[in-house]
Amino acid sequence: MEIIINKRLLNNIYKEIKKSDEIVIARHIGPDPDAIASTIALRDSIRNTFPNKKVYAVGAGVSKFKAYGNLDHPDNEKLNNPLLIVLDVPNMHRVDGIENLNYSKIIKIDHHPKEDITGFVDWTDTNKSSASQMVCELILNTKLNLTKKVAENLFLGIVSDSERFSLKNTTYETFDTVKELLKQSKIDFVPLYDILYTRPFSEHKFIAYITNNLKIDEHKFGYIIINDETLKEYNVDNATPSNLINNYHFIDDLIVWAFITEDVKNDLYKVSIRSRGPIINEIASRYNGGGHKFASGAKIKTLEEVNKLLKDLSLACMEYEDKEDKQKEE
Ligand code: AMP
Repeated sequence: MEIIINKRLLNNIYKEIKKSDEIVIARHIGPDPDAIASTIALRDSIRNTFPNKKVYAVGAGVSKFKAYGNLDHPDNEKLNNPLLIVLDVPNMHRVDGIENLNYSKIIKIDHHPKEDITGFVDWTDTNKSSASQMVCELILNTKLNLTKKVAENLFLGIVSDSERFSLKNTTYETFDTVKELLKQSKIDFVPLYDILYTRPFSEHKFIAYITNNLKIDEHKFGYIIINDETLKEYNVDNATPSNLINNYHFIDDLIVWAFITEDVKNDLYKVSIRSRGPIINEIASRYNGGGHKFASGAKIKTLEEVNKLLKDLSLACMEYEDKEDKQKEE
């Protein structure tokens, strides 16, 4: 089967890039490897193709993702109405690094369900595994250059967001795109897994802590509330739980699971939720959150609200189980 790519859309994105002298590429706050890798890869590809353009990949840096490359910190007020490319984020309030930026127009490239951002050229497709897959398709189907470093970052972003091609967002298109990426770039991809999966032993002990303390109810809903003291004890930051949550995907006793992590600095709880059945982003959106159908997050101010969310998620599991049982009976 041939991949159906909307070449016209990709060409329109390419044309906008080609005619802009200054470009800012931004992604969501609290970035994951896909957000970081796709942003840096697109910046580096544009810079390589058009060396005279000023191109910035913005947003706060994360030290553990430094292998992907450096981010830029331009003085937004001094930029000259740049083109803004928004990657991997559907809502304006979660775009990182665009304070006081007077952009000319937005190009949006995203695989989350649509929210308030609509690009002048808008490529929103929830069937893509990752923003990195989309950037990869853009580069492979236009005159943008694919360098070794760009290809490595794109590979890392796709592998990470699809959890090594094991999540529901993986399609034959994902494999086709990766095949073409590897064929054209000839990168040595096996050593790249070190970047994603090598971690200190203390983090493994933290995984053991989560496993030992995850509470699982009768509806196969699992959750853990991780306080700041525990993060300190295991020497991990408050972004670590969301990077580990996909590890729990293949556990028979769980259909939905949530990690609630205390964020002392911002005086809130960061919630990461994953599902193997019930749709969770609609529930998360009632608690200052959102995301994908089966991978969502939220930011919650009080434990009382956290408990309400936990009840709603457990209820969703119960309803899902009932539905499954009825289907089996029919
Ligand atoms: P995480 O569990 O942090 O990896 O996030 C899973 C998905 O939910 C990602 O697509 C995030 O962009 C999205 N997400 C996380 N937190 C929020 C939030 N507070 N509001 C909207 N979407 C979120």
